[in-house]
Amino acid sequence: RERTFSIIKPDAVKQAHIGAIYHQIESAGLRIVAAKMLHLSKAQAEGFYGEHEGKPFYDALIEFMTQGPIMVQVLEGENAIEVYRNLMGATDPSQAEAGTLRANYGSGMPANATHGSDSAEAVSREIAFFFSDDEII
Ligand code: ATP
Ligand code: MG
Repeated sequence: RERTFSIIKPDAVKQAHIGAIYHQIESAGLRIVAAKMLHLSKAQAEGFYGEHEGKPFYDALIEFMTQGPIMVQVLEGENAIEVYRNLMGATDPSQAEAGTLRANYGSGMPANATHGSDSAEAVSREIAFFFSDDEII
């Protein structure tokens, strides 16, 4: 069993898509083993997205991620990292395959509805950023 880390971004929370996204996650065979809602501070968003500092979209990304509440989740299942990346679809919603989370609920860039860890190293770092061990089932 593998774990991955997921965010439902401010655009999708604001548009009331939490339930629909959770339904697609669970229908894909992934279990939600930890979850919470929070509103990122600028410092938290910068800490989480440090790898993108200096990129042309960085300031817009930080602004977007701090504009409203998000949901953060730990997901568990076989090949969870790859299964969830495939469920999200391409980064840009206009390029994402039909039926994927970003095609269904994203509206553009950076407002692409969801985040998912891209490697085992990212999973460890990103889960530890938001959750303590006793918050994960
Ligand atoms: P994520 O890390 O959110 O799962 P990703 O790994 O598919 O997405 P990254 O390259 O890590 O994509 O970019 C992180 C986020 O930054 C994207 O999800 C998107 O919200 C935003 N972003 C990426 N590229 C652009 C861009 N060219 N213009 C605006 N925003 C962008
Ligand atoms: Mg990424």
